[in-house]
This record gives sequence, structure tokens and C-alpha cells, in this order.
Amino acid sequence: MRKRVIIIGAGIAGLAAALRLGRDGWEPVVVERAPARRTGGYVLILSGMGLDAAERMGVLAGLAERRVAAFDLAYLRPDGRPRFTVPRAAVRRLLGDDGYALLRGDVEDVLHEAAAGHAELRFGTTVTALAQDGGGVDVTLSDGTSERADLVVGADGLHSAVRALAFGPEERYRRDLGHMVAAVVLGGLPAGARPGAFTTAGEVGRTFTVADMGGGRAAAFFTWAAADPAAELAAGAARSLGRAFPGERWVATELIAGLREEETYFDSVSQIVMDRWSAGRVVLLGDAAWCVTLFAGYGSSLAVGGAALLGDALDRSPGDVPAALRAWEAGLRPEVSERQRKGRANTGAHAPRSKLELALRDLPLRLAAVPPVTSLLSRRLDFRRH
Ligand SMILES: Cc1cc2nc3c(=O)[nH]c(=O)nc-3n(C[C@H](O)[C@H](O)[C@H](O)COP(=O)(O)OP(=O)(O)OC[C@H]3O[C@@H](n4cnc5c(N)ncnc54)[C@H](O)[C@@H]3O)c2cc1C
Repeated sequence: MRKRVIIIGAGIAGLAAALRLGRDGWEPVVVERAPARRTGGYVLILSGMGLDAAERMGVLAGLAERRVAAFDLAYLRPDGRPRFTVPRAAVRRLLGDDGYALLRGDVEDVLHEAAAGHAELRFGTTVTALAQDGGGVDVTLSDGTSERADLVVGADGLHSAVRALAFGPEERYRRDLGHMVAAVVLGGLPAGARPGAFTTAGEVGRTFTVADMGGGRAAAFFTWAAADPAAELAAGAARSLGRAFPGERWVATELIAGLREEETYFDSVSQIVMDRWSAGRVVLLGDAAWCVTLFAGYGSSLAVGGAALLGDALDRSPGDVPAALRAWEAGLRPEVSERQRKGRANTGAHAPRSKLELALRDLPLRLAAVPPVTSLLSRRLDFRRH
């Protein structure tokens, strides 16, 4: 008989888990709070173990079709005057074939298409209670139904409900890094933004990037230092952004003026730090377990890679789910800890604390086309596949 897994959350982690487990003998039910599939999101680089896992799960070609393969990195002053550009040939050497620039929604599309025949998806639903005994977990859902499962995967992101139910309140595990992020996908490239480029206007305390994603799509994201993230969240994206990016600024000013809150990703930049990711047959995966933040540039890779490794561990111990979860965690934890460390160390790259820090961040980028600097930066980015 196929084992039943209830996966909470249809983001990258949840869909990757549904694909990996659904293809290999499990019967996944994916429960997603949103009323329908999300689109857009923001631009991310999928790399390293994420691409390795995507290849093993048969979705690498689908991702390769949707990636932006060639782009310049242009750096501007806040008013739009050019500072310097890393030409696409150098960007290509930096990322090699080990970093795919993608929209989050496209990664989810590719995983969803591949998982569709192997998993049931229920939208507009969440989990309200979990109770486990030696033989399984009883999962109560917000639609009034309940399910008995051999395994529950909490892939419901930074503000995970599964974590709250199985491990206690978020405040116990969330470490705010003192920054905010807002991101939006745009129907087209804003006037004044450069075609074929990911363009960043950086200054002390804040950064704004517009990425030409090709096919008439573009993505923008803002990051800024914030002493009180809770106050920013209470203010909402538009007010918080307006305060963080005041006055006339290249492209950002018009974007903020036209911002639609419901289409904007807006949150504090926070890590989740836990000393265990599973309790019996309930396991957390992706941002729910270990959010490394956008500053680490590796959360989606850990989500896909973590899902593939979870499947491997369950294959190795089919009769003992809790033991498989512990073995999976022991294997993955060193990589996650290292990526969290890098995320914490990298805050200055997105919101430099001083003009000196901004200049020091820019120096290697200015020289990125020089071969020894290219390899140095490439090593620092650490996108390599294994
Ligand atoms: C601006 C930005 C840039 C980034 N850049 C990169 C990058 O370059 N490289 C990289 O690897 N990573 C990057 N990341 C991080 C990466 O996107 C995340 O780590 C990854 O998407 C996490 O996926 P997830 O599925 O774990 O969580 P999420 O994407 O948060 O998905 C969680 C899902 O669960 C659903 N959900 C939430 N609560 C409930 C509930 N109670 N019940 C049911 N469903 C629920 C949500 O609706 C969502 O569908 C970036 C992140 C941001 C914000």
C-alpha cells in the first residue's frame, strides 16, 4: 500500500517534495492556503544542490527553458546616473552553467507540472491541528476534513503554521536581520530601465534592483535596513517603501507610487534557527525549517535539494519514518548552517552601512571581468554543483 504524506504549502519546497515523493511510492496531498497557484513572486538564482536535485527529478530542462540566460549587471547611482556595468560575458563566466536566473513562479510552474500526475492539490486550505501516535499523524484541515498520514511535511514558509503547531511559536525560532524586502513582478520593463540587464541602484542603507526577465516581463526588488521590522510590517508595503526610498529616485519612485499591496511580496528579512527539524513523523522543509534569507541567495536551492535528499533518506529507511527524518537532517544541517552564516555575513551587500562598505562591495564587481577576480567572485558566490 502507498504511504500517505500530507504536505502543507505549495511553494518550491512543497512542490519539490510532492514530486520527489509522489514519483517514488508515496501518495502526496498538498494543502495550500492561497486560493490558487501563485505566479510571479520575484527573481532568484537557483544553483548548486538545487540544480543537482532538479536534474535528478527530471525538471532541469524545463527550468533551463525558462531561465534568463544572458544579462548585464548594471550599477547606478540613486538618481540613475551610471556607475559601472558588469558585461554579460563576465556574468556568464561568474554564474557559468551553475546558476539559473528564474522567477519564483516559473520554478513553481515547472515543479507543479511535473508533480501534477503524482499528487493531489487542495487550495484555500490550511492545517488546524496535528496529533500523532506511534502509527501515524491525524491532520485536521480548515475545510473541516481530517486525514491520517504516515508523514507530514511542513513546507509552509517563514511563518509556518506546522512549525507553530508541532514546535511552538515563531518568536522562539525567528532571528530578524534588521532589514526589509519588498518584491514585485511587472508586466513590462519600466520606462528608463535598461533592456537585457539586471540594474541595481545602491546607496547606503538601501538597494533597488530591476531585472529584465525577457518575454516582456520584469521583476523589481527593494531591500533596506530597518530598526523595527514589526513597525514596517504594520505600516504596509507602500508606506514602508515610501519612507525607505523618499524623494526622487531612479524608477523606484514611480514603482512605489503604483504599487499594489496584494501583488507585492513584503516581509522582514528573517532567518529561522531550530535545533531540530522533525518531531516524530512531522518534518519541516525549506524556509519553514531553516529560512536562510535572500541574503544567502540559496533558499530555493536548499528547498529543492532538501526535498530530494528527504526522498533519499525515506527510501533508505522505509520502515522507520522518524529515523529517516533524523538521518536526513544530520546530512543536510552542515550545508544549511553554512548558508545561514553567509546570509548573516552578507547583509552589507544589500544595504551597505556606510559609503566605505558600498565602495568595498563594488570594488570586486567593478573588476569582475578581470579573470582572477571572476574566479574569486565565483568562489564567493559558491553556486557550484557537486
Ligand atoms: C526577494 C527574494 C529573493 C530571493 N532570491 C533567492 C535567490 O537568488 N536564490 C535562492 O536560492 N533563494 C532566493 N530566495 C529565497 C527563496 O525564494 C526561498 O528560500 C524559497 O522560495 C522558499 O520556498 P518555500 O517553499 O520553503 O517557502 P515559500 O516560498 O514561503 O512557500 C510557502 C508556501 O506555503 C503556503 N503557506 C503558507 N502558510 C500556509 C498555511 N498556514 N497553510 C497552507 N499553506 C501555507 C504559501 O502560500 C506558499 O505557497 C529569495 C527570496 C526573496 C524573498
